[in-house]
Formats: sequence, structure tokens, C-alpha cells
Amino acid sequence: RIRIEEAVKNFGHVQALKGASLEVQPGEVVLIIGPSGSGKSTLLRSVNRLERLTSGHIWIDDDRVSGPKADIRRIREEVGMVFQSFNLFPHLRVLDNISLGPRNVKKTAKSAAEEKSRALLKKVGLSEKEQAWPEQLSGGQQQRVAIARALAMEPKVMLFDEPTSALDPEMIKEVLDVMLALAQEGMTMLVVSHEMGFARAAADKVVFMDEGQIVELGPPDQLFNSPREERTQRFLKHIL
Ligand code: ATP
Ligand code: MG
Repeated sequence: RIRIEEAVKNFGHVQALKGASLEVQPGEVVLIIGPSGSGKSTLLRSVNRLERLTSGHIWIDDDRVSGPKADIRRIREEVGMVFQSFNLFPHLRVLDNISLGPRNVKKTAKSAAEEKSRALLKKVGLSEKEQAWPEQLSGGQQQRVAIARALAMEPKVMLFDEPTSALDPEMIKEVLDVMLALAQEGMTMLVVSHEMGFARAAADKVVFMDEGQIVELGPPDQLFNSPREERTQRFLKHIL
């Protein structure tokens, strides 16, 4: 479970988050939409402590993410994150990209880590690529490896920040299918994406953010078809 309370984040004079509160229950998939600069990435990055809040609190289950005493190593183990750019280690083969985290951070033995990594590669449909280098893969394949790599740490929650927006159209589906399967297995997920098909198929709730605030939140049907707030209506006209 992710709990965000009154999150404020200032970058100098820019207020990226202005008191955003949000809960993601265990097994829930929450999708965040909103205009560029509305604070979506900042909110996600605050959850795994890539950003430190100016004020407010974030918890993963009972572990405090915010505040000076937060255990950053533990947070990184509990929270998996997948970005728009794939960020694989270019000098490591696919299998080693996935097994590195468990070996270094969790001190898992090489053979066990590799066995686990193979299972994850199978899950994302890339068993035949375990010895490939990242640069030999398509964008969609790299992103699926990035998902497998995050899952290798056995996170409690997964964050996705526009995971398909750098991909060619034909590769978007293969990544969304992996995410959908993960959602159906009960993974707790917080996803920034404007993929409406995914939203309708997988999201329990959709959040509309604007200017550092959560303007509106509801089930996909309600938020897309009958948004209450004028700002949400205006934004949806843009993207639908
Ligand atoms: P996009 O849809 O373009 O990805 P976003 O909703 O993810 O936008 P954020 O990246 O969270 O928006 O940015 C929110 C605000 O904070 C913007 O005004 C941005 O310029 C500012 N901002 C984000 N990161 C930094 C930073 N490291 N330093 C200064 N300002 C930042
Ligand atoms: Mg962003």
C-alpha cells in the first residue's frame, strides 16, 4: 500500500507538488493523467525517494519514505520503477541486467538469481534474449527487460512513468500486455500514462493532476466519461 499525505515539493520557486494526497491499496492499479508540468513525475519520484519532499509524508505499508530517517536502501528494494527511457546497463547482457540487483543488494547467490531472472524473462516473453546486449533489442524489448529487472527485486509496489511514450506504436502493446498481466496478478501499481486502453482494462482508479494538485479521482469510466471538474473536462478534450 502506498500512502501519500499532503505532499509538497518545491524546486526553488517552482511548486511542483502543492499538497497532493493519494492512497493506493494493495493490489490496486492507479493511473495518473495530467498536462505536462503538472507534477506527475515528481509525485512518482518522491515515492521511491528520487526526490525528497519539501513537506508532507509518504509511506509504503508502515515504512516512512519521507523524512530524514527513511531507509533509502529498503525503499529501493520495496519500490520498483520503470521510466520512459529504458535505462538498462549497456555493458551487461540481458540476464545480468536482471540478476545484478538481487545479487548485489539482496546477496542472492548467482545461480539462484539467474534462475529467477530466467523465469522473469519468460514472463515478459524474452527467454531467447538472455545473452543479448541491450543495444541489440528493440525499444519494446528493452522496456520489457526493464520491467523484469524491477520485478527481480520482488518489490511491493511498482511505479511506471510513461513507460510506452518513447516507443513506436507497434511496440506499445507488448509492453502494455506485460503491465496488464502484472496488474491481474495483483501487483500494486502507480502508473503515469495516457494510454486509454490500458486505463480502461487495468486501472481501478484514474487520477487527474494539474498544477501540483490532485484535481479529481475516480474509476476510469466515471473520470473519462463524466468528469466532474472543468479542468478535467478541458484536459480530456485535448487527449481523447
Ligand atoms: P510531463 O508530462 O512533461 O512529464 P510532469 O507532470 O511529469 O510533466 P514534473 O516533471 O513532475 O511534471 O514537473 C513538475 C514541475 O516541476 C515542472 O514545472 C518542472 O519544470 C518542475 N521540475 C521538475 N523537476 C525539476 C527539477 N529537478 N528542478 C527544477 N524544476 C523541476
Ligand atoms: Mg513526467
